[in-house]
Amino acid sequence: MKNNLRPMSMFSVHPYGGVGQIGANSTLFTLGDKKVLVDAGALFPLEEGLGVNILVPKYEDLEELDAIIITHGHEDHIGGIEVVQRKFPDATIYTSNFTAKMLRKKNIGKLAISIVNEKSLIHFGKWKFSPFYVDHSIPETFAATFWNEHEDQFIFFAPDFKINTGAGISSQFSFDRLKKMAGPFKHRMLFVDSTNILSEQLKTPAEQEVVEPLRKLFKESEGRIFATFFPSNVERLKTFLDLALEQGLMVSMIGRSMRFFLDLALETGYLKTMPRVSDVILPHKRSLILISGCQGDFNGSLRGAILDGQSKCKLKEKDIFIYSAKVIPGNEKKVALIFNKIVASNVALYNSDNYFTHVSGHAGRDDLKLLIQNLCPQVIVPIHTESHFLPAFRKWHESEFPEIEHVQFANGETLVVGSDGLEIERGEGVWEFNIVHDNGQIMDKDNLRDRRKLAESGIVSLAIQEKKNHPNYKFNFFGLPFHVEDQADFDAYIFSVVSSFKMPRDAKLIEKKVKEYFVSKYSFKPNVSVVLL
Ligand SMILES: [Zn+2]
Repeated sequence: MKNNLRPMSMFSVHPYGGVGQIGANSTLFTLGDKKVLVDAGALFPLEEGLGVNILVPKYEDLEELDAIIITHGHEDHIGGIEVVQRKFPDATIYTSNFTAKMLRKKNIGKLAISIVNEKSLIHFGKWKFSPFYVDHSIPETFAATFWNEHEDQFIFFAPDFKINTGAGISSQFSFDRLKKMAGPFKHRMLFVDSTNILSEQLKTPAEQEVVEPLRKLFKESEGRIFATFFPSNVERLKTFLDLALEQGLMVSMIGRSMRFFLDLALETGYLKTMPRVSDVILPHKRSLILISGCQGDFNGSLRGAILDGQSKCKLKEKDIFIYSAKVIPGNEKKVALIFNKIVASNVALYNSDNYFTHVSGHAGRDDLKLLIQNLCPQVIVPIHTESHFLPAFRKWHESEFPEIEHVQFANGETLVVGSDGLEIERGEGVWEFNIVHDNGQIMDKDNLRDRRKLAESGIVSLAIQEKKNHPNYKFNFFGLPFHVEDQADFDAYIFSVVSSFKMPRDAKLIEKKVKEYFVSKYSFKPNVSVVLL
């Protein structure tokens, strides 16, 4: 394999999640004898329900861990921290002040977090680590940089980033610093955010560019302004609050996470001046109503407020609705239901399809180009990606930077840089996840299968008291997908079944008979639980 890395003592990079499917970002760096996990994220399940909250990578083969570095506070980077910490309670967490405050406020993870900033220098054996602040859609996001002077190696690991050109909260990316840090090293390797590789937008607009179009809407509106977005985008939150202040609007908030990030923004100093915020929605002519739950989740505030028709949120003529977010693939239908309701209420809906309401938090292809031109790596590895993005990334890479080596790997595979150069240890293509219940406990697959069966088919429970001549029994139906009208018929059937079996009765056989009854009478097989007392 062609590679420009000189033989060196080994380091390896092993993604547990985030490469092949966007979400559950978590990558193990083995740096000499130190093991460092960058991010411990969660993936949201494709289907809602059954109590499944998140999916978290299994770390079965991981036996020791020295540290966990958290690049920023999005769920796909922090959602699995508790699972990792249960296994490695002594691993130090390194993260930024904002993320640390967020974790503590959410009660996630142990309290002993080591806060790092761009001046921090953490030693992992002969390797050093320092955060490199990048721009994104949540404050204090950084790329992880690792370097080893003995081996003349520099690694730039940027799972989520964009490059803002304005002067807002999230404008921190410094090419000067990048050149200063990476410049002295002969060998540079880039792991880079590929989220937007398929996007038509080559340069991702800066967060600040959304301010003027929003200001125009605020100025022109005659009624109330409803708006939704990811409140973790504190700069967006600040924009809405600043505009409300500017226009003399009162602000109401619906949703816990809106309040959570408002408080966090105040605590961390990102918000200093703000209008009066109330939980009460007043039918004021001119006010701003911020609602969380922009993806239309079933238990989310947006759905409750708009779709389920909470009267205080009843949209009225002249109100406008600003959808200042991206609809995450998979959520289209849920969001469309909300859009339909808004439009059916004769309220003007502004979203990315018809207005400039949102900017992405991820770099476009021209932004990637800028990073590559400034870093001048010898090897580029796409991360934070879906598998089906990778051919497009390769094609783009080969046309723009044919002189730079392109390496692709997937979850469960390991990129090893050893004395013989660079190679990929291919995995078996098995990508295992822990299924985490709403209460934080891990569920196994059998448990999930049982839940699905129960949800789909309901259950018939039958308790039989073991009496020889007079079978005594009680039955109950739960969640059958129809109403069993004639319980007397079922009763007679059970009586004959139970009476015909000699002592000791066989629960399995009775179970079978009950199923047969429903199959023959209703063409349907419920779950059956028979208990012999
Ligand atoms: Zn992110």
